[in-house]
Amino acid sequence: MKTKWSQHLAVRPEQKAYIQTLFSYMNARGLKFSKQRAAVIEYFVKADRHFTVEQLYLELKKKYHLGYSTVYRTLKLLVDSGVATVHHFGVENTRFELIHQEGHHDHFVCRQCGKIIEFHHDGIERLQQKVAKTRGFIVDDHELQLFGLCKTCRSAQKKKGSH
Ligand SMILES: [Zn+2]
Ligand SMILES: [Zn+2]
Repeated sequence: MKTKWSQHLAVRPEQKAYIQTLFSYMNARGLKFSKQRAAVIEYFVKADRHFTVEQLYLELKKKYHLGYSTVYRTLKLLVDSGVATVHHFGVENTRFELIHQEGHHDHFVCRQCGKIIEFHHDGIERLQQKVAKTRGFIVDDHELQLFGLCKTCRSAQKKKGSH
């Protein structure tokens, strides 16, 4: 028997389902787990954040010997297998994120530093459905991105302005 990578990845128990989904997707296509791939997957799943390829690559590079394209291809694999999703938060801010079964969320995106802040608002969700309904449209998925400045960047700007 070959090593079962799925069991060796040190993710949290509640995250095992991600690995199982990915593992059966790869198995069905005869795709192989490499050590580098496993490292990317483990890091990405455990961190559970919004990553650009660049960011994830720079963080992984400190610990592992791997290339940018491995990171990119592994992230793509995570998306293709239905484990992660990709958000296009404007030019050069394409982020990969794990898909969360527990519930949908939307995003604030800081134009200055690129920070992503998650939010969920029942009222907005309901309103979207209501507006869609008046157009005879059924919404089954959506992505709401609100662009602006985060708290940190706003106070940095204020300081600059007062000088
Ligand atoms: Zn910011
Ligand atoms: Zn998110």
